Amino acid sequence: MTVETTAAAELLGLFPPGSRVDADGELVVAGCRLADLADAWGTPLYVVDETAVRAQVRRLRQALEDRWQGSRMVFASKAFPCTAMYRLMADEGIGVDVAGAGELVMALAGGIDPARIVVHGNAKTTAELRLAVEAGVGLIVIDNTDDIDRLEELVSSEQSVLVRVIPGVRPDTYEAVATGQAGSKFGLPVPAARAAIARLRHSDKLRVEGVHAHIGSQILATEPYAREVEAIAGLGDFATYNLGGGLGVRYTYTDDPPSPEHWIEVLTEAARRHLPRDAELIIEPGRMLVAPFGVTVYRVVSVKGDDPRFVAVDGGMADNMEVALYGQRFEATVTSRVGGGSSVELVGRHCESGDRLISGVPLRDPRPGDLVAVAATGAYCYTMANNYNGAMRPPVVFCADGVPRLVVRRETHADFLSRDVASS
Ligand SMILES: *Cc1c(COP(=O)(O)O)cnc(C)c1O
Repeated sequence: MTVETTAAAELLGLFPPGSRVDADGELVVAGCRLADLADAWGTPLYVVDETAVRAQVRRLRQALEDRWQGSRMVFASKAFPCTAMYRLMADEGIGVDVAGAGELVMALAGGIDPARIVVHGNAKTTAELRLAVEAGVGLIVIDNTDDIDRLEELVSSEQSVLVRVIPGVRPDTYEAVATGQAGSKFGLPVPAARAAIARLRHSDKLRVEGVHAHIGSQILATEPYAREVEAIAGLGDFATYNLGGGLGVRYTYTDDPPSPEHWIEVLTEAARRHLPRDAELIIEPGRMLVAPFGVTVYRVVSVKGDDPRFVAVDGGMADNMEVALYGQRFEATVTSRVGGGSSVELVGRHCESGDRLISGVPLRDPRPGDLVAVAATGAYCYTMANNYNGAMRPPVVFCADGVPRLVVRRETHADFLSRDVASS
C-alpha cells in the first residue's frame, strides 16, 4: 500500500465552498453534517449545496451581463433534472434547455417560463415537438431536416427556431462528450446548415432567429470557444447566437479549469470580433453550474485485502456513471476522518469489475459502517442513476446554510414492482 498524505485542507477545496470539519472531526457541507443527513435519509445520498448553486448562477449571469448587452443564460438541465433544481433556476430568473419531453415536463412543473425554454435533441419525436409547441417554448433548435418537416406539419401559427451547426471544432475532452467535430451526430455541417436556413427563410410558420453550437462537455480550455464563434459567424447575420456550454470543472487536484469569467470573456471577445453588435448571445452551461456543489455520501459495507485494499460501498455505477462512461476521476474522504490516509480501491456493489468508483484514492483508516463522501458529483450522476442490481435510485437533499430539505425521495421496492404489469 502506498501511503499518501493529502492534507484535509486540500481535499476540502474539492467540496462545496465553506465545507469544513466539525469539532468532533465530522465533515460539514453547506452547514450540514453529512453524518446527520445519512442518519436521516440513508445512503447512498446525493447532497446539493443550494446556496452555492445559486451563487454560481448569479456569478455567471453577472459575468455575461457585464460583457454583452442583450445576452442570457439558460441552464442545460440534463446536468441535474429534478423539479427542485428547475424551481431554483426559475427563482433565479433564468431559463433552461431541455432535451426531449421528459425534461420539458419537469421544467414546466418546476415553474420555468415556457418562453425561456430552449428545446434540443437529435431525435425529437412528433409527440415531443407537439408538446413543446403547445407549451409555447421560446426556441426549438433544429438538428436535422426531419425536425423542419415535423414542425411545418404541427405548428399552426409561428415558432421561433435556431439551427444547430457543427462548427468543426474538436476540444480536448472525452470522446463520448465531444460534439463539435466533423462527424458529430448533433446538428448539421455548415453547407447543410446553410441549406436548412435557406429553406426556413421561406417558411410562413418557422422563424429562424439564429444558430446554435455546442462543442462538448468537461472542456478545460477556452481557445476552442473562440474558434467555435468564428465558425458559426460564417453562417451570416442573425438576431440570436446560442454558443452552448461545456466548460469543465475541478474534480481532482490536478484539474485547473478556466474561471467562468475567463470563459465568458473569450466568448464575448470572439463575438465582438465576428458577430453583429446587436445580436443576442445565449450561453447554456450545465455541469459548471452544479457539479462542484454536489456530494454523494455512501456507507462502507466491507473492507478486504491489503494490496490492493478494497473498500466496498453501498452504491457505485448505479448512482455514478461518469466513471464507467468516461473514466472520470473523483476524490473522496471518510466523513469522520477527513483527508490523509493510504491509497485504496473504492469500489461499488455492482456485478461488474468496472464498477470501481475511484482507483487509488487515499482514505484514512476506512472501516465497515463508515461514511464516505465523494466530491463534485453534482452533475450527470443523479441524471444517469439507474437500477442496476436492483439499486433504488438515491434521494436528493438540498442544503442551504445548515438547513437540509429532501427534494427527491429514495426509490422503493414498491416502485419497482408497481411498473411490472404481469400479475402471474
Ligand atoms: C449538454 C449540453 C449542454 C451543457 O453541457 P455542460 O457540459 O453540462 O455544460 C449545453 N448545450 C447542449 C446542447 C447540450 O447538449
